[in-house]
Parts: sequence; structure tokens; C-alpha cells
Amino acid sequence: MVTQYKNLINGQMVSTSEMLDVVNPANEEVIGQVPASGEAELNQAVAAARAAFPAWSKKPIEERRAVVQAISATIKENLDELFRLLTAEQGKPHAQAQGEIMGASLMAGAQSTLDLDDEINEDTDERLSRTRRVPVGVVGGIVPWNFPVMMAVQKIAPALLSGCTIVLKPSPFTPLATLRLAELIKDVAPAGVVNIITGEDSLGPMITAHPDIDKITFTGSTATGKKIMEGASKDLKRITLELGGNDASIVLPDANVEKVAEQLFWSSFTNAGQICVAAKRIYIHEDIYDELSTAIAEYAKNVKVGDGAQQGTAVGPIQNKKQYDRVLELVQDAKDNGYKFLVGGDHDPDVPGYYMPITILDNPPEDARIVAEEQFGPVMPLMKFSTEEEVIRRANDSEYGLAGAVWTADPDKGVEIAEQLETGTVWVNEFLHLSPFAPFGGHKQSGFGAEYGKEGLLEFTYPQVITVKKDNVPA
Ligand code: NAD
Repeated sequence: MVTQYKNLINGQMVSTSEMLDVVNPANEEVIGQVPASGEAELNQAVAAARAAFPAWSKKPIEERRAVVQAISATIKENLDELFRLLTAEQGKPHAQAQGEIMGASLMAGAQSTLDLDDEINEDTDERLSRTRRVPVGVVGGIVPWNFPVMMAVQKIAPALLSGCTIVLKPSPFTPLATLRLAELIKDVAPAGVVNIITGEDSLGPMITAHPDIDKITFTGSTATGKKIMEGASKDLKRITLELGGNDASIVLPDANVEKVAEQLFWSSFTNAGQICVAAKRIYIHEDIYDELSTAIAEYAKNVKVGDGAQQGTAVGPIQNKKQYDRVLELVQDAKDNGYKFLVGGDHDPDVPGYYMPITILDNPPEDARIVAEEQFGPVMPLMKFSTEEEVIRRANDSEYGLAGAVWTADPDKGVEIAEQLETGTVWVNEFLHLSPFAPFGGHKQSGFGAEYGKEGLLEFTYPQVITVKKDNVPA
């Protein structure tokens, strides 16, 4: 019998009569069952979060900080169990799953050190004006399947530190490690402060529409982000939207081909390309295009795709059937249009699991679907460019604005180009690095608001200005 997991509601692990199957994408076997929560479970979770809010929000920040640090420590103490479970449900190789779980612990630990100090706006003989940050109340957190534990923790940690309480919904594709974490932390925070409930996608709109939730923090696709914005407009809930991206990497002619080939590869293929900030379009200057594209293709040939639980696997399966079909569709479109493949392109439909070989396209046109759309899979288009002006225009010609990268021997030139890219993050000579102290967020249809850093923390609060007229005290 497969393991059955439970919701965390009001400090208790509780089950539901209806359950959902969770599948291992490496072999399509059912590896667990989780609650198929609906209106009733959501109402219980929100009621618990609402009841816990007054006492939690009034605790000194040092007490809340200690709870976030205890969560961070609990994640680290249970690293082994959590990363194996994560690989089984998500597909990513063990080393990357370890990285995600450790990353979640480190990020929460680092975020716990942030402060919410009052700010003095005016302090004169006449008046004292002060801004304090007030927690918004009950937060609804909605999380995707690519980094399920990291995303859950990056919502729980700042919510708790700010004084909010939270009801969190993992993706139905990857709820296991998060529910196990729920069990591990159930006594760390007071009952009702953290609630984690699972359900189908249909649970999402119920969260967005719930009248007793004050804010939604969402990470996921742009299409769902738009629905959330619409749903949240009914009662003007605050929202933070971390959405899709179609990030461009720009490789200038002075880049060191040998050094960047491997890094460019992993900027695209880590987590089988299922990263919002993965390089999804790589523009290489024409002077080094042939040499660099050959070097990347050669590197790719030695990378093992397979079950993330097996030693030596560097790229796992695509996480779910829906995403697998989408990636296959984009590859078929490239074939139908006669685009050239440097590596890969053909999958074996008879092997169980959602495997796609590393696939690299050779200079497809700018309007190819694989270039214009977010592929979110192990397929990367390499494109040639001639001038800086041209490549900046092409990089910015996207509905998305999440991140980007510039590779060059001249960091000043890299920064000059970075400043012209219309994205929330730009890396020069590195990739995928996120700091717990720097705001992370998108522009255009990659969303708005921020996570991480002081700005991310402030998203869980509203500013209250208290003004005292000093020379007007009634007798
Ligand atoms: P998704 O939008 O399909 O699902 C995300 C979450 O929303 C899931 O928990 C899902 O159950 C829930 N959901 C589905 N329909 C809903 C609705 N109508 N209302 C409310 N919630 C609903 O996204 P996904 O396929 O899980 O994740 C992949 C996408 O996420 C990619 O586009 C990727 O770029 C994006 N992403 C963005 C970031 C970022 O920080 N910007 C990070 C990771 C992933």
C-alpha cells in the first residue's frame, strides 16, 4: 500500500475521505496519496489561520524569528529523508534535490535575520510622524511543481516573520515532501500559524476567492497568474505574482568559449530546464557561434538523462505528463518547420517515465515557437547575433521580463548591456544565483511584487503612518 499523507490544519495532521494519487515521473508509478481538499478543509484551515493571527502578530519579532529559525533547522536535520522524497515526486537528481532542501533551509535561515523597523518620517517641534509595518493577516500561498519545497518555504518564512499566518497549497503534482515537512514542523509554530492543505488545481481559485484571506502569494505560470489577479480583484486582495519567464542569455564575442560552454549548458538544463529563471534562449555572437555551439553540443553528449534516484543521472525526467506533452509538441513543431537539431530531438515513447533527451536547436528563427514561448523543459535554442543593439532588441522582444544573463570578458560591458534588459534580474558571468537579501521578481508578464530581501518581507505588510501633533495636546 502506498503511503498516505495528511493536511496540516490548526496544528494537527488530518486526512480527508477523498485522496489524490502522486506519481513518480521517472517510472509513472504511484508513490503516495494526499488529501483531495475542498471547500470544507479550506474553511477549516483559514479559520485556524484567522484565529491564530491576533496572538501571532502581536508576538515580538524575536519570537517569530526564532520560529523561522527552528523551521530552517528542522529542514536541515531531515535533509536525507526530504531530498529522497523530493526526487521521487519531482524527478530531479539526488544532488539537485539535496541542493533544493538545503537551499530552503539556508534561505529561511537568512530571511529570518531581516527586520521590520519603524521609519521616522518627521520629527520636529510640531510633529512626530512614524511609519510602522503591519502584517496583512492571513496569507494564501500557492506553489508550483518545479521547486516545491523551496517555494513553499520561501512563502512560509517571510509570512511568519512579518506576523502573518498562512494557508499553503502545494502543486498536486509535488505535494509529498511539503506534507512531510508539515508533519515535521507542526509543533514548531503555534497551532494555526502554518496550515498546509493539498488538492487539485480547483482548490486554487477557492483560495483566491476566500473572503477571509487577505493576501495571495503565488508562484506559477503566467496563465494562472492572470486568473489569480482576476479572482483577487473581487475583494481587492493583495497579490504577489512570480510567473513565467523566457530568459535570454547573451554571449559576447570576447567570452571564453571553453569556460562558458559548460556553464551555459547548466544554466538551461538544471532541473531538466524546469526553472523559471533558466536560460531559455541563448544568443551567441556570430564570431564564436560555431565554436561555442559545437562545444555545448559536445558537452551535452556526456550528460546522463535518467531516473534522478540513480547514481550518475544529471538530468531527470520532465515532472508531469502535461508538461511532457507540451515539450514534445514544441519539439514536433521545430521538426515540422525543418529547424536543425544539434543534439537530441527524439524520445522513446515505449520507455516508462517522462524522459526527453537533451535537445539543442541550431539557430532557429526568432519567431519559432521554441524561441518565442517558454519551453520549461530540456530543450534549448541557440541563436546567432551580429550587433549589441540587435541582440538587446531581440532579448527584450518578449512578453516576459523575469531574468537574463550576459557572458563576457569585460564585466563593465556586461553591466552596460544588463542595464538595457527589461527584466527583474540580470546576471553577468553567472546564472541562477538568488540572494536571500536581494529582491527577486519579474517585470511585464513575469509578474509583480518581490520575494526575498527586505522588499519581499514588506509584501506581507502594509504601511501604517501614525502622526502625533506635539503642540496640540488638549488641556
Ligand atoms: P501552474 O500555474 O499550472 O500551477 C501553479 C499552482 O497554481 C499549482 O499549485 C496549481 O494547482 C495552482 N493553480 C492552478 N490553477 C489555478 C487557479 N485557477 N487559481 C489558483 N491556483 C491555481 O504552474 P506550474 O505548471 O505548476 O509551474 C510552472 C510555471 O511556473 C512556469 O511558467 C514557470 O516559469 C513558473 N514559475 C515561476 C517562478 C518565479 O519565481 N517567477 C518560479 C517557478 C516557476
